[in-house]
Amino acid sequence: MISLYFHFPFCTRKCPYCHFYVIPNRNQEPFIKALIKEWELRLPWIENRPLTSLYFGGGTPSLCVEGIRQILKRTHAPEITVETNPEDVTPELMKTLHGLGVNRISIGVQTLSNPLLKHLGRTHTAQQAMDAAYITQEAGIENISIDLMYELPHQTLEMWQDTVKTAAALPITHLSLYNLTIEPHTLFKKKEEMLRPHLPDEETCAAMLEFACNYFESQGLHRYEISAFARKNHVSIHNTGYWTGREFIGYGPSAFSYWEGKRFRNVCHQNRYLKALEGGKFPVDFEERLPFPASLHEQIAIGLRMLEGISLNNLPQETQDRLADLDHQGWIVYRGNHARLTERGRLFYDTVAEQIIDE
Ligand code: SF4
Repeated sequence: MISLYFHFPFCTRKCPYCHFYVIPNRNQEPFIKALIKEWELRLPWIENRPLTSLYFGGGTPSLCVEGIRQILKRTHAPEITVETNPEDVTPELMKTLHGLGVNRISIGVQTLSNPLLKHLGRTHTAQQAMDAAYITQEAGIENISIDLMYELPHQTLEMWQDTVKTAAALPITHLSLYNLTIEPHTLFKKKEEMLRPHLPDEETCAAMLEFACNYFESQGLHRYEISAFARKNHVSIHNTGYWTGREFIGYGPSAFSYWEGKRFRNVCHQNRYLKALEGGKFPVDFEERLPFPASLHEQIAIGLRMLEGISLNNLPQETQDRLADLDHQGWIVYRGNHARLTERGRLFYDTVAEQIIDE
């Protein structure tokens, strides 16, 4: 089984915290042409390989329906997801996507507090975000995921609790949580000194996560991965692939791939992406193959994100020692050929991952 990811870089404006490769939404034609060329170039790789998911991410792929149409003319999969922003969701758009075979929508809600949406530089309102979920459902797409962010400047525990409760009552099947990280090359990075005093303290952040996990669980949204929750039978097929080491190809500028043990990334530059494909070349500017056992350690660290844990066979002694040490420290439970995070390990996943990956 394999998965395909398509990066559509267009956004109407750049959010001040965003570190993805995005460009203003104009003149989509050259991009679509190049994307199809990349599709054709990589076709021999994927022919005869069963596809389990397609994911249109970005950027804002729902701004480029023609691009989605061109890909879906050529291929399909059991799970087809399109990311969208609440302000773009209309009954017409959702019906069109449904008609093309899209069966899962991921909506960038972020928060249901209007003042916080403003601080995040988002152009939608809480009402638009809620409407977007209902419009999508009414158009016939019932598998709906939303993204929510916490640890935001000016966010209080009460604000977060309101967002969590309102979000859980929406017609959603899946939810991803992100804590805000201030990334290099963003407007938030430039304003970091000004923002820092308004960020919730460590204790509040821990309380935010704990409240969300308990509340979502009580509402039938089961936490199956460190930051993902799903109703029964609605775990994300696509994202599960990332955590379980499934091979995938990423198309479009800045898209990552994992293929035959190698990781590679397309150029993060629209013109260079177009040029490479015009010349019939792969638009790749980075690739690496992790040596053993670093590759194994990385796979274990990522696999532990799944809360059910992972099965481990034929581990080298060094890896077994690392895991035994983590078990001893109370971060994981490592028994026989199975490992999973403890409650404490879930809270401090980054620390666990660092200790596993540590060279
Ligand atoms: S809409 Fe999403 S991808 Fe576009 S700038 Fe904002 S955060 Fe980034």
